[in-house]
Amino acid sequence: MKVDYIIVGLGLAGLAFSRELEKHNKSYVVYEDNSQQSSIVAGGMYNPVILKRFTPVWSAIEQLEIAIPFYKALERDFQKKYIYDVDIYRVFKSVEEQNNWFVACDKPLLSQYMIPEIELNKYEGVESDFGFGKLIDTGRIDTKELINDYRDYLLNKNIIRKDKFIYKSLKINDIGVEYDDVKASKVVFCEGFGLVKNPFFNYLPMQEAKGELLIIHAPNLNVDFMIKASVFVMPLGDNYFKVGATFNWKDKTTLPTDSGKKELIEKLETVINVSYKIVDHVAGIRPTVKDRRPLVGKHPKYHSLAILNGLGTRGVMIAPKSSKELYNYLENDIELSKEISISRF
Ligand SMILES: Cc1cc2nc3c(=O)[nH]c(=O)nc-3n(C[C@H](O)[C@H](O)[C@H](O)COP(=O)(O)OP(=O)(O)OC[C@H]3O[C@@H](n4cnc5c(N)ncnc54)[C@H](O)[C@@H]3O)c2cc1C
Repeated sequence: MKVDYIIVGLGLAGLAFSRELEKHNKSYVVYEDNSQQSSIVAGGMYNPVILKRFTPVWSAIEQLEIAIPFYKALERDFQKKYIYDVDIYRVFKSVEEQNNWFVACDKPLLSQYMIPEIELNKYEGVESDFGFGKLIDTGRIDTKELINDYRDYLLNKNIIRKDKFIYKSLKINDIGVEYDDVKASKVVFCEGFGLVKNPFFNYLPMQEAKGELLIIHAPNLNVDFMIKASVFVMPLGDNYFKVGATFNWKDKTTLPTDSGKKELIEKLETVINVSYKIVDHVAGIRPTVKDRRPLVGKHPKYHSLAILNGLGTRGVMIAPKSSKELYNYLENDIELSKEISISRF
């Protein structure tokens, strides 16, 4: 079998690069072994404001300009809903935070998202002594549904193999690579935290961060916005909510833990005061990088090997733009922006 590309990993990175290949009529095959879960369990939120400090997220506006049409096109192609426009209500902890909110609302990049008012409405079940700051044009992507649908689409086309990619079986030659029965011009590695097992790219400084989330059912919590306090409480419909997430820099396993659950429950109970039932508990490892920027580029020695990784805590916004840049770099020799290029390491 001869193809233009092999993609290793079908999380948000692999999916975004596959869309780029389809757009340009390139042939490819995907290897996916279900060893990582980050994109499947993700909150899926997109939001251009860092809600701890009220500062803009790196390159957020440019990322969103590409990301929203990207997910809309997927909705159109698959005739499914993946984008949920949901406002974020940031719970204030003090008068000082209220003041900081107003200062940030005046900043050019933030003013289109942050409403310069304090929302003092009380919502049943939500603790809010100092009110809320409201963010608009934010939302979430149903990443689990999207990835499952995309995997089925690739299965139908017979271009996904549910196998672990074995690095030592990859043969690199002058015109490309060979793996199994596949000959390809290039391989793009999109393994998320799986990168640490990749002998070609594991020199890159990943600083992974495990995250856990709860799904709860709270019949008396009737909010249709995301609450951001010590945790996020994200409406999923029918009084189900995602609650998260934890950050653990030591635990490298993908399994949910009792300590993660305890932490989430303790935090949740400072945010809501109505009864709820935990219906699920999930975990994944965020592929975060030392300098908090993506890892994109070609191997310094083997130019048929490329990487799209390091999406960190914001894969939803970063994946579509980074995959476009990688494609243009590999196919059209358009230089990568310095911030994302792996040549910085
Ligand atoms: C709890 C939690 C909450 C999050 N919330 C948000 C959020 O609200 N918004 C947001 O934008 N981001 C969020 N993120 C971050 C986001 O999930 C990541 O940025 C993104 O999923 C990374 O995508 P990826 O494709 O690089 O990696 P992954 O999703 O990990 O995908 C990598 C894929 O490669 C496969 N793989 C690895 N090695 C091999 C191999 N050798 N052979 C074959 N297949 C292989 C894995 O099985 C996996 O499917 C969250 C993450 C977590 C854990």
